[in-house]
Amino acid sequence: MEKTRAFTLAGRMLKNLFRKPATTQYPFEPADYPERMRGHVRIEIKDCISCGLCMRSCPSGAIAVDRKAGTWTIDRFDCVQCGSCVSACPKKCLFIEKGYTEPDSIKRSETFTKPEE
Ligand code: SF4
Ligand code: SF4
Repeated sequence: MEKTRAFTLAGRMLKNLFRKPATTQYPFEPADYPERMRGHVRIEIKDCISCGLCMRSCPSGAIAVDRKAGTWTIDRFDCVQCGSCVSACPKKCLFIEKGYTEPDSIKRSETFTKPEE
Protein backbone atom coordinates (compact mmCIF):
# COMPACT_ATOMS: atom_id res chain seq x y z
CA MET A 1 0.00 0.00 0.00
CA GLU A 2 2.74 2.47 1.04
CA LYS A 3 4.75 1.55 -2.08
CA THR A 4 1.79 2.26 -4.37
CA ARG A 5 1.32 5.69 -2.77
CA ALA A 6 4.99 6.52 -3.20
CA PHE A 7 4.81 5.57 -6.88
CA THR A 8 1.69 7.66 -7.43
CA LEU A 9 3.34 10.65 -5.77
CA ALA A 10 6.53 10.22 -7.80
CA GLY A 11 4.45 9.95 -10.98
CA ARG A 12 2.60 13.18 -10.16
CA MET A 13 5.84 14.99 -9.38
CA LEU A 14 7.36 13.92 -12.68
CA LYS A 15 4.26 14.98 -14.61
CA ASN A 16 4.21 18.38 -12.91
CA LEU A 17 7.87 18.95 -13.69
CA PHE A 18 7.07 19.11 -17.41
CA ARG A 19 3.73 20.91 -17.15
CA LYS A 20 3.23 24.61 -17.87
CA PRO A 21 2.77 26.48 -14.54
CA ALA A 22 -0.85 27.19 -13.58
CA THR A 23 0.11 30.64 -12.28
CA THR A 24 1.40 33.69 -14.20
CA GLN A 25 4.12 36.18 -13.35
CA TYR A 26 1.67 39.09 -12.90
CA PRO A 27 2.44 42.04 -12.71
CA PHE A 28 5.57 41.32 -14.77
CA GLU A 29 3.40 39.63 -17.41
CA PRO A 30 0.03 41.12 -18.43
CA ALA A 31 -2.97 39.47 -16.76
CA ASP A 32 -5.03 37.17 -18.95
CA TYR A 33 -8.65 38.02 -18.11
CA PRO A 34 -11.51 35.62 -18.89
CA GLU A 35 -13.70 36.69 -21.83
CA ARG A 36 -16.88 37.31 -19.77
CA MET A 37 -15.17 39.05 -16.87
CA ARG A 38 -17.02 42.02 -15.34
CA GLY A 39 -14.15 44.43 -15.07
CA HIS A 40 -15.31 47.98 -15.76
CA VAL A 41 -18.04 49.96 -17.52
CA ARG A 42 -17.29 51.63 -20.84
CA ILE A 43 -19.46 54.22 -22.57
CA GLU A 44 -19.72 55.03 -26.26
CA ILE A 45 -20.50 58.66 -25.43
CA LYS A 46 -21.39 59.74 -28.98
CA ASP A 47 -24.46 57.44 -28.86
CA CYS A 48 -25.66 58.57 -25.41
CA ILE A 49 -28.93 60.56 -25.38
CA SER A 50 -28.58 61.66 -21.72
CA CYS A 51 -31.83 59.93 -20.74
CA GLY A 52 -30.48 59.13 -17.26
CA LEU A 53 -31.88 55.58 -17.12
CA CYS A 54 -28.45 54.21 -16.29
CA MET A 55 -28.13 56.65 -13.40
CA ARG A 56 -31.54 55.67 -12.03
CA SER A 57 -30.83 51.95 -12.33
CA CYS A 58 -27.45 52.08 -10.59
CA PRO A 59 -27.77 50.56 -7.09
CA SER A 60 -24.64 52.25 -5.79
CA GLY A 61 -25.20 55.72 -7.26
CA ALA A 62 -21.97 55.54 -9.25
CA ILE A 63 -23.31 57.33 -12.36
CA ALA A 64 -24.25 60.99 -12.83
CA VAL A 65 -25.82 62.24 -16.05
CA ASP A 66 -26.01 65.97 -16.80
CA ARG A 67 -28.32 66.44 -19.76
CA LYS A 68 -27.63 70.21 -20.06
CA ALA A 69 -23.85 69.83 -20.07
CA GLY A 70 -24.03 66.63 -22.13
CA THR A 71 -21.83 64.76 -19.68
CA TRP A 72 -21.83 61.25 -18.28
CA THR A 73 -19.79 60.66 -15.13
CA ILE A 74 -18.88 57.45 -13.36
CA ASP A 75 -17.24 57.00 -9.99
CA ARG A 76 -15.41 53.76 -10.68
CA PHE A 77 -14.71 53.15 -7.00
CA ASP A 78 -18.45 53.11 -6.25
CA CYS A 79 -19.26 50.79 -9.17
CA VAL A 80 -19.89 47.17 -8.19
CA GLN A 81 -19.91 45.89 -11.80
CA CYS A 82 -23.50 44.64 -11.51
CA GLY A 83 -24.30 45.48 -15.15
CA SER A 84 -27.67 47.07 -14.32
CA CYS A 85 -26.82 50.28 -16.23
CA VAL A 86 -25.82 48.25 -19.29
CA SER A 87 -29.21 46.47 -19.30
CA ALA A 88 -31.12 49.72 -18.74
CA CYS A 89 -29.49 51.76 -21.52
CA PRO A 90 -31.95 52.12 -24.43
CA LYS A 91 -29.17 53.13 -26.84
CA LYS A 92 -26.95 50.13 -25.98
CA CYS A 93 -24.00 52.47 -25.57
CA LEU A 94 -22.81 51.02 -22.24
CA PHE A 95 -20.67 47.92 -22.03
CA ILE A 96 -19.09 45.85 -19.28
CA GLU A 97 -15.55 45.04 -20.30
CA LYS A 98 -12.78 42.93 -18.89
CA GLY A 99 -9.88 44.50 -17.02
CA TYR A 100 -10.00 46.06 -13.58
CA THR A 101 -10.10 49.77 -12.78
CA GLU A 102 -6.59 51.04 -12.03
CA PRO A 103 -5.97 51.34 -8.28
CA ASP A 104 -5.60 54.89 -6.96
CA SER A 105 -4.99 56.59 -3.63
CA ILE A 106 -7.65 59.24 -4.36
CA LYS A 107 -11.31 58.48 -5.04
CA ARG A 108 -12.02 60.26 -8.31
CA SER A 109 -14.65 60.14 -10.99
CA GLU A 110 -14.33 60.05 -14.76
CA THR A 111 -16.41 62.34 -16.97
CA PHE A 112 -17.19 61.91 -20.66
CA THR A 113 -18.65 64.74 -22.74
CA LYS A 114 -20.86 64.26 -25.77
CA PRO A 115 -19.13 65.55 -28.91
CA GLU A 116 -20.69 68.56 -30.69
CA GLU A 117 -22.93 67.58 -33.60
S1 SF4 B 1 -22.28 48.35 -13.30
FE1 SF4 B 1 -23.81 48.52 -11.67
S2 SF4 B 1 -22.76 49.65 -10.06
FE2 SF4 B 1 -21.54 49.92 -11.90
S3 SF4 B 1 -22.25 51.82 -12.77
FE3 SF4 B 1 -23.43 50.17 -13.73
S4 SF4 B 1 -25.29 49.98 -12.48
FE4 SF4 B 1 -23.78 51.16 -11.31
S1 SF4 C 1 -28.94 55.01 -20.28
FE1 SF4 C 1 -27.54 55.06 -22.03
S2 SF4 C 1 -28.33 56.69 -23.30
FE2 SF4 C 1 -29.27 56.95 -21.30
S3 SF4 C 1 -27.89 58.37 -20.21
FE3 SF4 C 1 -27.22 56.31 -19.73
S4 SF4 C 1 -25.63 55.87 -21.20
FE4 SF4 C 1 -26.77 57.59 -21.99
